[in-house]
Amino acid sequence: MKKPISVGISPRHIHLSKEDFHRLFGPDATLTRTRDLTQKGQFASEQFVTLATSVGRIENVRVLGPFRDASQVELSATDAVGLGLNPPVRDSGDHEGSPGITITGPSGRVDIPEGVILAQRHVHMTPKDAREYNVVDKEIVFMALSAPTPNSMRSAPRTVIFGDVLIRISENYRLDFHLDTDEANASGARTGDSSVLFKIGGAPLDDNRQYYPEKRLYSEFDVRKARQEGMIILIEKDTILTPSALDLGREKGLFEFR
Ligand SMILES: [Zn+2]
Repeated sequence: MKKPISVGISPRHIHLSKEDFHRLFGPDATLTRTRDLTQKGQFASEQFVTLATSVGRIENVRVLGPFRDASQVELSATDAVGLGLNPPVRDSGDHEGSPGITITGPSGRVDIPEGVILAQRHVHMTPKDAREYNVVDKEIVFMALSAPTPNSMRSAPRTVIFGDVLIRISENYRLDFHLDTDEANASGARTGDSSVLFKIGGAPLDDNRQYYPEKRLYSEFDVRKARQEGMIILIEKDTILTPSALDLGREKGLFEFR
């Protein structure tokens, strides 16, 4: 059995672009760190905003840092119902076709045309972890919550196995399984609980590994395609990689060295 993976619960929050932040908090405001999050470089700020639609509003939504290219609101399904929204379940940063919302801060208001999502449950890990668990970036796996611990509110008859869990790999990540508050409340999971990764069918993990067609030279295009299709690239002694292919494959843990 592979080592268990800790659970982290993400309450509703917002990531802001620099431009939106200054419209909401003023041109001289700075995004102030109050606490570091599990993932390297990510932090909870001291700033809060209000979210509103014609149907409802939610106050005191925490801004997370650092700034993003585009603002993004991550809600629970219950929050979305209260706002009359039907956001898609998405990986962070994927906003196409998602609903917009009105954001209000102490110095102004911003209407974002899109960017409200329900975060797809996911596991953060490093390329080294990925080798241990035998998974690739963007692969979909199952996560089972481990047996209840004394400080967990979960009782054995409500044990939950989550499907559609997205694997996210980066050198900057730390091993953690992220759920939103609805998922946590329904299953009784709490931050610090442990969980186990597995793939359907109960087959040995090695049997699920798929390899990208073998070539002598791989470009960044090949690495992106392998990543999209959840495949591993086999690297032999005489394999040639373009520099960008090497960087991307290393960062995402897509290489197996022979
Ligand atoms: Zn996360």
